[in-house]
This record gives sequence, structure tokens and C-alpha cells, in this order.
Amino acid sequence: MDAARAVVVGGGIGGLAAALALHRVGWQVTVLERAPELREVGAGLTLMANALRGLDALGLGPVVRARGQQAPGGIRTAGGRWLSRLDADEMARVLGTTALGIHRADLHRILADALPAAALRTGAEVDDVDPDTGEVRYRRHGESATLRADLVVGADGLHSVLRARLWPATPAPVYAGSTAWRAAIPFPAPVPAAISWGPAAEFGMVPLGEGRVYWYGAVTAPPGGRAPDELAAVRGRFGSWHDPIPALLAATPPEAVLRNDILHLGTPLPSYVRGRVALLGDAAHAMTPNLGQGACQAIEDAVTLGALCTGAVDVPAALTAYDRQRRPRSQAVARAAARTGRFGQQLRHPAALALRNALIRLTPAGTALRGMARYADWQPPTASSPTGAAPGR
Ligand SMILES: Cc1cc2nc3c(=O)[nH]c(=O)nc-3n(C[C@H](O)[C@H](O)[C@H](O)COP(=O)(O)OP(=O)(O)OC[C@H]3O[C@@H](n4cnc5c(N)ncnc54)[C@H](O)[C@@H]3O)c2cc1C
Repeated sequence: MDAARAVVVGGGIGGLAAALALHRVGWQVTVLERAPELREVGAGLTLMANALRGLDALGLGPVVRARGQQAPGGIRTAGGRWLSRLDADEMARVLGTTALGIHRADLHRILADALPAAALRTGAEVDDVDPDTGEVRYRRHGESATLRADLVVGADGLHSVLRARLWPATPAPVYAGSTAWRAAIPFPAPVPAAISWGPAAEFGMVPLGEGRVYWYGAVTAPPGGRAPDELAAVRGRFGSWHDPIPALLAATPPEAVLRNDILHLGTPLPSYVRGRVALLGDAAHAMTPNLGQGACQAIEDAVTLGALCTGAVDVPAALTAYDRQRRPRSQAVARAAARTGRFGQQLRHPAALALRNALIRLTPAGTALRGMARYADWQPPTASSPTGAAPGR
């Protein structure tokens, strides 16, 4: 019997993870990626326990852990005072594993290398899908082409064409009020993973291993702003913050700096599934980065979809189960991320800052970790137990 066929639209972290999850359970998979070559733009990522467990389920946990660096983290003030600090051992005890900093390009390459080369089709821009027949229409080298699949995975990111096409009543992603600069740079000195908060501003740093560090700076700002020299703009905002922030910025070449306005899907989708199409990752639940969970949730989606699509599959029934398992959880994480942004990076008033900082200082590390477990503690479903374990403890 021929293998069931899946087309994955989008070759980002979510799309490649989904392609791999399906390939591992016997699907014939084609990834259609509009970029002329497969690559991940962006700097670093923090992967929490949930994503690492998902990657374990895809057989990639050891190689990913070897490539990244443990990054348990903590919260500091702009002056450098620690408000809370997570211990790697305690984090491993509560969550099963510590957080990991990894370069996006490394994770992306690891996922791509695990797929058969023939599964990846670049320069292929999808413009339409029929949810009833599974027919996907795309353009490649100026020509129109179609593929027909039993299952179509919409992993086409924040500005998803499939979402707009199949859920036209859901408003497009909206500006979340902040803009962020980021870079991954060589920086051989040891750097403790941390986020630091000042009025309406946040700076984060994450060691990536092999003498590299990922940093980002986020500020509340009107949308669409651009500076003639973005690195100078970051130095202007964060250059007087605690060490090693000035040194990190001094070591950053201007061309390494990326700037993005933060958008999220402000109106949650009523379903992630339509006919033979399932959305995942940012296409389904684009969230603010304040919990470092966007890619982690995409990996959860992918692993869950793979588990539900194992064996002789009734695709519509599997997708109904996928929607039931993934939507409440990922939308709750998205809401929590937006709340965290308001309580953290976006807080501006001095009295509110002082109160928040005092609250964080008084919160025992164990309590903070148990709070984190609500989103970061997740067990992948398996083919024999496709509902998986309830998140949190
Ligand atoms: C500043 C910042 C920091 C972040 N930090 C973290 C973090 O620490 N941890 C974390 O887990 N998450 C983090 N995130 C979120 C994370 O980056 C995203 O959630 C994740 O990359 C989404 O992956 P995806 O595969 O769904 O989408 P994308 O990575 O956007 O991939 C979509 C792919 O689809 C392709 N595509 C789009 N349209 C089409 C089309 N029509 N046809 C064919 N191909 C198409 C695109 O070219 C792209 O390759 C952060 C985000 C930001 C902005």
C-alpha cells in the first residue's frame, strides 16, 4: 500500500519538526518552502523542557543538547541586581531538564538534516489550498504547480497564507506594542543567562555554546520605527545597563543586528483544523516572545500531530483530536506570554516597577519554577497514548 502523503507548507522550525514527526511514522512528506534556500533567519532561541522533550520524541534530543548550552536564567534589574535566579539543578528537579540556549540556524539544520533531502522543496510559494481535497497550489520558478495530499500542514508562520485563506474572519496578527533588536555574536567570556528589566524595556542574554551569545533588547514603542543605525539605537537604550551588556553591544557587528516589531495573533483562532488542513506554530498561535515559547509550542504541535497520525489514520478524526489537544494549551500559553509582557518588559511606572520587583524578590525560587512548570512541563504523547500527559504538575 502507498504511504499516506503529507504536504507541509513552510520550512521553519515548526514545519520541519512536523515533517520529521510525520516522516518517522511512515508518511511520505513534502515540505514546500518559499525561500530559495532552506535557512533560518534570527539569532538564538531558548528551548524549555517541553521543547526538549518534544525533540527527544523526534530522536534529536542528544544532538540538540550537544549543540546548545544549558541556560537556566534569572531576572535582574537594569543596574544588575538579581531579583530571582534559577538554579540548573533545581530546574532539572522540577521540570526534568534545564533550559537550553541554541542558535536558531543550528536547530534548523539539525531538523533539516534528519529529513530525506527529497522531502524539501525550496523556492515553492504556496498560494492556495483546498481543505476538502487536500490540493495545494504553489508557484515555483515562475510556474504554477499542484500537489495533492491526505494531510496539509500549514506551518507558514506569522503571516500565514493558509490561515488567511481558510479563516478569513479571524483578524490578521496585530502589533503587541513593542519592538525588539537581537543578534547572535561570538563572545568568549562566560555570560549568565538572564533577562533584565528597566522601565518599558527588557534586555536578555543567552549563552549558545562554542563561545557565542544571543542577546535581545525590547522596548515599548510605536509600530514601524526604524533607525538609520539600529546598533546605535540599541546602544542608546541599553549601553548604560549592567555588565556585560555594554561589552556585548561593543562586540556586536552592525550587520548582525535584526529588528522586528512584535506581532501576535490577538484574536485566537476558533479551530486549528479545517478539512484536511491543520495549522501549527506561528500560523496557528503567533504569540509574543515573553515566555520564550513560540518555537517550543510549535515543536509540541508537531510531535502531537505525528503521534495522532500514526498507523492507519482517519485524517479528519486525527485532526479533530489534534485541535482538541493543542488549541486550549497553546492559546493559554499565548495569553500567558502577553500577560508576562505587560508585567515585565512593558511595565513603565516607577511605583509599579518597585512593587513588581519586590514581589519577584520575595517569591521563592521553587514557587517560580512551579509557575513556570504550567507551560514548560509537558510530556509528548506517544502512538500508544496519543493524548499524552496533562501539562503541569
Ligand atoms: C524576538 C523574538 C524572540 C523569540 N524567542 C523565542 C525563544 O526564545 N523561544 C521560542 O520558543 N520561541 C521564540 N520566539 C518565537 C519563535 O521564533 C517562533 O514562534 C517560531 O520561529 C515559529 O516557527 P514557525 O515554524 O511556526 O514559523 P516561521 O519560523 O515563521 O516559519 C515559517 C516558514 O514558512 C515559510 N513560508 C511562509 N509563507 C509561505 C508560503 N506561502 N509558501 C511557502 N512557504 C512559506 C517562511 O519562509 C518560513 O520559512 C521568538 C520570536 C521573536 C520575534
